[in-house]
This record gives sequence, C-alpha cells and structure tokens, in this order.
Amino acid sequence: MRNYKIFLEFNESLCPKFIDSALTEIIICWLPQDLENMSWASKMYSISKIGDRCLMVWLSGEEAQTIEKMDFSKLKSDLINAVKKILKAPDLPDPVNIIPTRWHQDPFSRGSYSFISAQSCVGDIEKLAQPIYSNPAQEKPNLLFAGEACHTSYFSTTHGAFLTGRKAALYLVDSDENSIKEVDPSKKLCNL
Ligand SMILES: Cc1cc2nc3c(=O)[nH]c(=O)nc-3n(C[C@H](O)[C@H](O)[C@H](O)COP(=O)(O)OP(=O)(O)OC[C@H]3O[C@@H](n4cnc5c(N)ncnc54)[C@H](O)[C@@H]3O)c2cc1C
Repeated sequence: MRNYKIFLEFNESLCPKFIDSALTEIIICWLPQDLENMSWASKMYSISKIGDRCLMVWLSGEEAQTIEKMDFSKLKSDLINAVKKILKAPDLPDPVNIIPTRWHQDPFSRGSYSFISAQSCVGDIEKLAQPIYSNPAQEKPNLLFAGEACHTSYFSTTHGAFLTGRKAALYLVDSDENSIKEVDPSKKLCNL
C-alpha cells in the first residue's frame, strides 16, 4: 500500500493564529537539506486542514510502506518539527492526538485506485465510462461501467465511485430525474 495519512489533532483552533483561515491545503516542495535525518519525509507532499483543530499529512510511494514499520516516537517528533517548519509556526502547540493509518498492515485495506498516467488523458476515462448498447435504437444499455476510474474529476476517490454508480443506475431506472438515459442514438457505443 503506497498511501499513508497521519491526522494531527490539536486542542485549540489553529486559525488564524497559525494557519490562514482560508487555507485548505499546503503542497510541499522539499529541498535536499530539509530532509537531513528525515529521509522518510521525502514523499510527504501535502498538509491539509481538516477543520480548525485537525491537520492531515499525506505521504505516498515506497516510504508509505516503510513508515509503518518506523519507531513511532521518532516519527512523531520528526513530524511535529516538520509541520512547524512548513507552517513557519515554531510556537505551534503539540498535537493532543496523532493518528496514523496502517493500511499496508490492514488485511481489509488492500487494493489500489486509478490515476491518469503520462500516457493517458481524461478522454480515456470518458471512453471507459460510456454505456454500451446492442444497437442505436435500444433505449437502455446492455453494459454499464461504474467505479472511481470512471469519473473524470473524482477518479481515485470514494465519492467518484459513488457518483458513477449513481449515474450508471440512472441509465437503467425509470425516473423523472433520469434525463441522462436520453442519449443521442448517433453517439451510442454499440456492440464493442
Ligand atoms: C489505502 C487507500 C486509501 C484510500 N483513501 C481514500 C480516501 O481517503 N478518500 C477517498 O475518497 N478515497 C480513498 N481511497 C480510494 C477509494 O477507496 C477508492 O477510490 C474506492 O474504494 C473505489 O471504489 P470502487 O467501487 O470504484 O472500487 P473498489 O472499492 O476497488 O471495488 C471494486 C470491487 O470489485 C471487486 N472485484 C475486483 N475484481 C473482481 C472480479 N473479477 N469479480 C468480482 N469482484 C471483483 C473487488 O474485490 C472490490 O470489492 C483509498 C484507497 C486506498 C487503497
């Protein structure tokens, strides 16, 4: 699992004293000298504000796997120092709670999700998500695809999966809401 999140909970609001109230996420760009004795942080690429008292640090790549095996007290102190440095807030209080994910070790969290590679584009997602009909005159499709990989904006996410599932279902049900089932016959993908 190449995905790791750490939630930092504080007992006081961080806004606006330590973080601008309007800020939602900081994308990190490390310099090599920033990572001395802290190589695990090289793939720590963002800090998101999850409410006024909670931050989420996001790591990816191989480091996300190795970090789960690290000594947690070293990780905690490195992390707090890194966050203070990134926020330029040396007086930031210590978090009252630090909750890391353990997805790599969790038998119920296996798996992965799609991404747009350098060789692909949003158009590929649109093609993947197209319903397939037996013939252009057919009102309802024979085959539908749903799941996060079918959403052009929210691929990789649970809400993307939900929305595409809902959209696929709307092709099949009779409902006033179901305007999407009226697909232009000339645009129907038939019998691939
Ligand atoms: C570690 C991790 C952390 C994540 N964190 C977040 C997050 O914080 N926020 C967020 O929005 N998203 C997150 N995601 C992504 C999110 O989990 C996925 O985008 C979402 O679950 C995708 O839903 P889905 O229905 O498209 O696919 P899946 O949830 O992958 O469902 C596909 C299902 O199909 C089954 N299946 C596969 N092949 C077959 C087959 N041949 N026959 C029958 N069944 C089959 C699988 O077992 C699975 O149950 C995370 C994913 C991972 C792996």
